[in-house]
Amino acid sequence: MNCEVKLKERAGIINPIFTCQPAGAQYASIGIKDCIGIVHGGQGCVMFVRLLFSQHFKESFERASTSLHEDGAVFGALNRVEEAVDVLLMRYPHVKVILIISTCSTEVIGDDIDGVVRKLNENLLPTKYPGREVHLIPIHTPSFIGSMITGYDVAVRDIITYFAKKTTPSEKINLFTGWANPGDVRALKHLLAEMDAPANVLFEIEKFDAPLMPDGNHVAHGETTIADLQDTANATASFVLNRYEGGKAAQYLESEFSVPAVTPAVGALIYERITYMGNAYCGEEAANILLQNQMAGISFLASMGIAVRVNCLVFWGVNSRELTDICLMAKECGAQGVNLVPVRSFYGIGSEEIQMAEFFALRDECMKIIPQITHSHPCNARSVCFGRQCLLPEDLSEKSPFGEQKN
Ligand code: SF4
Repeated sequence: MNCEVKLKERAGIINPIFTCQPAGAQYASIGIKDCIGIVHGGQGCVMFVRLLFSQHFKESFERASTSLHEDGAVFGALNRVEEAVDVLLMRYPHVKVILIISTCSTEVIGDDIDGVVRKLNENLLPTKYPGREVHLIPIHTPSFIGSMITGYDVAVRDIITYFAKKTTPSEKINLFTGWANPGDVRALKHLLAEMDAPANVLFEIEKFDAPLMPDGNHVAHGETTIADLQDTANATASFVLNRYEGGKAAQYLESEFSVPAVTPAVGALIYERITYMGNAYCGEEAANILLQNQMAGISFLASMGIAVRVNCLVFWGVNSRELTDICLMAKECGAQGVNLVPVRSFYGIGSEEIQMAEFFALRDECMKIIPQITHSHPCNARSVCFGRQCLLPEDLSEKSPFGEQKN
């Protein structure tokens, strides 16, 4: 018998860990206290994702499925969503938040999960569960676009859009951890505590790092509360450690409630590569490491009683829209002043020439947040001043190669 081995012509990468959008939405759901996600689709859309999470974290997870079958795929299956919500509320008296997560099949057949949420809010909840706090949030995650990463991003955005509510401004920051492991969340919380920076951590999944218990019925739960989610609108700034995993929510908070967003994405445009602990990093990963270390460094120095002035190079059109966010971050970390140093485009970063009038206006805005060093534009090295009081015997800024100074 002859045996012929054929070379495959297919070019592709097979990565079983990279899965579909509903997986990301399910991962976001587990970080919220008193929340269970219902996946509106076939059982496999929950089972395989649950298996993936359970094998990775060695924890039990609570999620539900509408368990779509052939009849539902043909005639629609919104009745199964209604039934699933009712069953969940009956079986779990503590549940307050239910995400209705769509899948490829239910998006293709056109099941209106927004409509069924309206119907449940008008009928089931007031008649069968009067007085009970229940939040039903539709999350659209068809699997034929995006990936588990975009599904996570979409879910976080929709959760924040649903809950964020402006009340009293708080001293907290919003920390969007992205698709992190429980140990990462613990480390981030440790850094926040070291910096004395209160935060709404999105999402609190530390409990998914619990030891295996002998009775085998332990179920881990997230700890980000409804109050934390509502408070995101009152934070001083949002920090997004991965712009693809929480960036949309931070953008929403910025546009709707003026909560500035700081993301490593802008840093990646400025720093091509860095070397850290003997390893080379580039792009957003590099910028993220820098941002974390800068924040930790400022906080540490401030905690030692050292007056910290932050020098920030301004690349017009690159980071110029983030200046107020950067000033807020510096203030939050304990700095006493910021030195915004405009850089001309011939340095090779950014294509726009700096607009000095707009720069001065922006700096005045920043002045409301934290004292600005105003003598040193565009050269920073010769100024040691805070506010408009230079500590040098003479103002050296007039010797700037960039011509006329404002002050
Ligand atoms: S690809 Fe579609 S059917 Fe498969 S798990 Fe994802 S949503 Fe479910």
